[in-house]
Amino acid sequence: MSPCLKPEILATLVPMDLRLLLPIIISSCLLTCTKAEFNPTYQVNEEFAHEVQSFFEEASSRGISVDTTNLILDFDESLSNVTCGECNSFNNAGTQRRVGINPNLHCWDNQFEKEALIFHELGHCLLGRVHVSDTLPNGEPKSLMVSSNVSLYSPCKYVFGQVIDCNNVHKRDYYIDELFASETPVPTWAYE
Ligand SMILES: [Zn+2]
Repeated sequence: MSPCLKPEILATLVPMDLRLLLPIIISSCLLTCTKAEFNPTYQVNEEFAHEVQSFFEEASSRGISVDTTNLILDFDESLSNVTCGECNSFNNAGTQRRVGINPNLHCWDNQFEKEALIFHELGHCLLGRVHVSDTLPNGEPKSLMVSSNVSLYSPCKYVFGQVIDCNNVHKRDYYIDELFASETPVPTWAYE
C-alpha cells in the first residue's frame, strides 16, 4: 500500500503537470487509509450466542460462507417501542454490523420464535437480505424475511391435550432453506 503523505509534502515531490492529479491521488489515498483502519468486532451477548452459532452452522451446512468476525449483537434500549430487533447494515463488510434487540418488549414465546427473530436480523446483517412480502400458495409468508412475524415455524402456544393443527415446527426446514437461498422451491405443505 502506498504511504499517505500530507498534501503539502506530496506537492513538493511531484512535477507541476502532475499536480493536477493531486486531488485524485489524495482522495484515493484517503480511501485506502480509511479502509485499512477498519477493525471489525465480534461481540455477541451470551443470551443470543446459541442462535448466532446455529445460524453459522446452518450456513456452513449449505456451503455458504458468512463473515463470522464482524457482528455486535446485544440488547438495545434505544429501539422504538414497536421494534423487536434491528440491523444497522446490509452485509456491508466495511461497516461494523450491529444487531440490536429490544429488551423492553415481549418478542418471543419460545425458542423457535427467538431463533426466528435472530435469524431474520442476521439475514439482513450477514446475508444482505431485505424484507420480503410475497406469500406462498396457502397465503403464509414466503420468507423469514417477512417483516414483524417470528411465529412462522412456531409450535402451538397453548395446547390443552388436543391434537390441533397449530404446530408449525415442520415448516422450519423450508424457512431456513429459503433464508439462505431465496429460490428454494415452494414446499408441499404450502399447497394444503
Ligand atoms: Zn427486518
